[in-house]
Amino acid sequence: MGVCALGFMPRVAFAARNSVKSMRTGVQPGNKTRLVIETAMRPSYTLSYPENKLVVSLANTPANTSIKPKLAANTLIKNLTQAQAGDRLEITATLTKSIGTIPKNQIMVLDPNGDNDYRLVLDFAAGAPITVTAANDGASRAATQKRIIVIDAGHGGKDPGCIGKGGTREKTVVLSVAKKLKAQLDAAGFQTYLTRSTDVYLKLAERASIAEKKKADLFLSLHANANPSRAVKGFSIYTLSEKASDEEARKLAEAENAADKIDVQGFTNFEKEIRVALSSLQQHAVAEMSEEYATGCNKSFRNASITQQPGPGVRHAPFAVLRSTVPGALLELGHLSNANEEKLLASAAHQDKLVAAIVKSVKAYNFDV
Ligand SMILES: [Zn+2]
Repeated sequence: MGVCALGFMPRVAFAARNSVKSMRTGVQPGNKTRLVIETAMRPSYTLSYPENKLVVSLANTPANTSIKPKLAANTLIKNLTQAQAGDRLEITATLTKSIGTIPKNQIMVLDPNGDNDYRLVLDFAAGAPITVTAANDGASRAATQKRIIVIDAGHGGKDPGCIGKGGTREKTVVLSVAKKLKAQLDAAGFQTYLTRSTDVYLKLAERASIAEKKKADLFLSLHANANPSRAVKGFSIYTLSEKASDEEARKLAEAENAADKIDVQGFTNFEKEIRVALSSLQQHAVAEMSEEYATGCNKSFRNASITQQPGPGVRHAPFAVLRSTVPGALLELGHLSNANEEKLLASAAHQDKLVAAIVKSVKAYNFDV
């Protein structure tokens, strides 16, 4: 061959190259724009946000100018263009309005199904413009942006939660743990917010909406449990599922959700308020991330030798407070109905131990896509 005759041999073995199959946009509930990029192989990608643009850079992918993007009406995307940058393909969406960094829970990579190949799905709404300098890009922005965690101390005010035989109240224990956790996570470089920092009553929908408003990456709702049998003890970790994983989980969700019934008027509007218009794809992505966090959290608690309630490591139930677009978990830190655990939960040393385990689980959680 001519190239070999010139003494040139390629020294890089090229990996199989990806290819773009289609690009399309659509409108999602909540006035969100959806961008779908369909590829032959699982895409490896980075995102960057130059002024009024969103750039999706796909590794090891050639441009395919034969593809005509299908652009829906009323989205934030004016047009989609392709440009080759080395072996990367840069797909640039020109936007009609600025958007913020797209949070992880609004980005999905879907496996092929009947009609489609792999799909990178990005959902976003108009938001605060991002200030970037000429030399700045997505990567350096990501490195300086703090992950946002909303910590929810359960119950409060007129709702004491569970009360131990010794008089220890759930609302007091979880507020104390929440404050310690905030201090530790702040020190570890996270941006944290408490849903309540005093002894006040908050509706479950208000707690969930704080996580939404703060655009949280993770939502942790802290609770302590009670069981009719005073022998039962241990922590348990829950994620949201409309179907409970077991009878105990179902009853617990019912008990925790009942907190809202204290505010009768609030409860009437409750279902309407809390039902975020989530697409099933988003629900799936949020559920997956929540499961990933909860599994790691269970491991972290066990590593710290904190007693686990017998049963599955992660349980599922329809907790109203977890109904949002933010991945998260509800942590039942122990049983106030058990005399020994009541003492532990009220002690500073055990609270510190719980906090250390939660901090480890947050640090170990993979926030990046
Ligand atoms: Zn509770």
